[in-house]
Amino acid sequence: MTKVYINGKLYDKNDAKISVYDHCLLYGDGVFEGIRVYGGKVFRLEEHVRRLYDSAKAIWLEIPMSREQVAEAVNRTVKVNDKKDGYIRLVVTRGAGSLGLDPRKTTDPQVIIIVDDITLYPPEFYEHGLEIVTAATIRNHPNALNPRIKSCNYLNNILAKIEGIRAGCVEALMLNHKGEIAECTGDNIFVVKRGVLWTPPIDAGILEGVTRNTVIELARADNIPVREAALLRHDVYVADECFLSGTAAEVVPVVKCDDRVIGTGKPGPITRALRERFHALTRE
Ligand code: PMP
Repeated sequence: MTKVYINGKLYDKNDAKISVYDHCLLYGDGVFEGIRVYGGKVFRLEEHVRRLYDSAKAIWLEIPMSREQVAEAVNRTVKVNDKKDGYIRLVVTRGAGSLGLDPRKTTDPQVIIIVDDITLYPPEFYEHGLEIVTAATIRNHPNALNPRIKSCNYLNNILAKIEGIRAGCVEALMLNHKGEIAECTGDNIFVVKRGVLWTPPIDAGILEGVTRNTVIELARADNIPVREAALLRHDVYVADECFLSGTAAEVVPVVKCDDRVIGTGKPGPITRALRERFHALTRE
């Protein structure tokens, strides 16, 4: 039986429970990380823990453990579950409180670690690429709920995801408040044009993806020029290549956006090379 970590203790999956008064349930008041395990090793754990603490700090949530303790707890939960390849969901809730917004009326933030199997996109998506559409729902304004915060309130992304699904796509492209490309609902976006790799900058109002940063590193190491700059839908339509990056999706090609065929309509050479490099890095 899968063991779930809650505040220092391990519970059988079916007994892993928290209060219905937890503000994470009542208001989405909490932060989280999605992390991969490859060959028994947690991928970029330090980066994920750092982002978790940044997210928590931004919402005045004090995690009742040190970063080292959180990292240790993640490793311990992976080990206990004997998980070689899988997905980790690390969550910190505000804790149980009264039926009002005031976080001062909550106690005991819950640190939860779930280690389970990963649901992957079907292999044909990686082989042939996927189609995306632009959602009418824009990404949260950075001065409202900053997309850099990986909060448990994901409705912004869920609304866009539903729009994508209703249009027959598994992912949807989200613009920012300026009408520029931000990211997809659970992935960052890259385009290739004349050998240069482009991706929206962090201040476009996006989550700074751990996979995004890894892809940028891999591209630079491969002497592929990388530019972080504001992009419009037009840049996606006329790109030679396009792909998405994320913990679950890794590097997945995009071959159509808003019914425009991108490049040749097939995953391009830079996309394929970066996907292979990423694959090699994670399976090292
Ligand atoms: N953007 C959003 C909105 C996401 O939810 C995710 C997945 N966590 C990403 C980008 C990709 O981030 P990462 O590479 O750290 O998984």
